[in-house]
Amino acid sequence: MKKWKLGLVIVGSLLFIFIIVTVFNTVRIDSKQPVAHPDELKVNKQEAVQHLSKAITYQTISYQDRSKIDFNEYDQFLRFLEDAFPRVYQELEVEKINQYGLVFKWKGSDASRKAIGLTSHYDVVPVIDGTEDNWKQGPFSGKVTNGNIWGRGTLDDKIGVIGILQAAETMLDQGFTPDRDTYFMFGFDEEIGGEQGAQVIARTLKERGVTFDFVLDEGGAVVNDMVPGVDQPVGVVGISEKGSATAELSIEGSGGHSSQPKNHTNIGRLSKAIAKLEDTQFKGDLKGPGEDLFNYVAPEMSFGMRYVFANKFVFEPLIEKILLQQPASAALIRTTIAPTIFNAGEQYNALPEQASAIINLRLMPGDSMEEVKTFIEETIDAPDIHVNISGTEASEVSSTNSRSFSSIQQAARNVYQNAVIAPYLMFAGSDARQYDPVAKDTYRFLPVQISSEDLNRMHGTNEFVSVDNYIHAIEFYAEIIKEANKPPS
Ligand SMILES: [Zn+2]
Repeated sequence: MKKWKLGLVIVGSLLFIFIIVTVFNTVRIDSKQPVAHPDELKVNKQEAVQHLSKAITYQTISYQDRSKIDFNEYDQFLRFLEDAFPRVYQELEVEKINQYGLVFKWKGSDASRKAIGLTSHYDVVPVIDGTEDNWKQGPFSGKVTNGNIWGRGTLDDKIGVIGILQAAETMLDQGFTPDRDTYFMFGFDEEIGGEQGAQVIARTLKERGVTFDFVLDEGGAVVNDMVPGVDQPVGVVGISEKGSATAELSIEGSGGHSSQPKNHTNIGRLSKAIAKLEDTQFKGDLKGPGEDLFNYVAPEMSFGMRYVFANKFVFEPLIEKILLQQPASAALIRTTIAPTIFNAGEQYNALPEQASAIINLRLMPGDSMEEVKTFIEETIDAPDIHVNISGTEASEVSSTNSRSFSSIQQAARNVYQNAVIAPYLMFAGSDARQYDPVAKDTYRFLPVQISSEDLNRMHGTNEFVSVDNYIHAIEFYAEIIKEANKPPS
């Protein structure tokens, strides 16, 4: 055989093998979605709507300046809960921790099984000054119109508190008793860090030796247009949250008169350092929760997309390149850099002796603050610029292979039957991280189906939830309590 012919045969055979292997990989990936088997929960819809509507009218607003908090509203809200959910208050152990943190313990019949916890918070963010008139219904009106309930907390996160208690009240009416100790834990300062609420609750329970198989908090929702290439809505369950850190870059010395500047001033040198960081960026890497998300959604995609994701050993660099093009997907696979404050100079004709900049960083699980600091120092390569970093590390990454995750996935599927339920990485912080020390796994899921546009309403103007969504949330909480309390297989 001629040499070139032999070469052609070898290349052809390799290509053939490549196609066989990659197509085989593609057809081999199965859906990771469980079959839905919904349980009928007869929610008293009218009463449930009244409860959430009324709950919204209490102005339980968290302010960074804690002296501005009106605890009178908190007291009234807690009294309202007692009236609204009489059976829960009678039949569960109820305790206030640190005055306003609420813990309910629904005693399980099998003491050998580990407890589970559902958590939420009843504080809300303030309405931004000057935007009150932009609300179609008052932010604390709790108005019900055209099948929607309006106001602060309808999504974030009184829906969680009222949804959980409404589910429990309904289940008590129907004679349900849990197998394992089932806790509900409600913080009152999540929006300002959770240090007095969730953190004290978790610490207190830890001192008592209470530990959880899992704790479920608010977090990802069922989002209609979540993942490009997937037609179904995708319900995302946060299995970790990114860390949030602040890096301060500062430089001193070499001031002087602006009529005789050196080639490089403090402003120039610091700007150059920031530009270098922006040009370099942290390396994107499809791993951890970001990769898990695609492992769960890829089987639901078209053949072409499945082919790409099923053969990551070839296509990973390409996938990463595509994900890095959009800020939202880029944030899923790398630590992000956002310069937010720049300080230098006071007078137009004097060179500033000092310049400093603040960079907000959102840390991937696995990128420690120390490593991030080293990365910044090495990238800017300017020994005269001092780098200082502080903040919180990314939370631990919870398992997707646990029974706990399967229970949440199953419960979500039972309610949102056509949705793909997948793990993901949260960019925002929540109370869930406070429970890391007492919980084997922590998950973050808000059981409502919304568009990504609706997500903006959470801390913005015109927060509302549809009655249908709210009823689904109640159903979800009942489902997760039932699923998690099923006998171990
Ligand atoms: Zn929240």
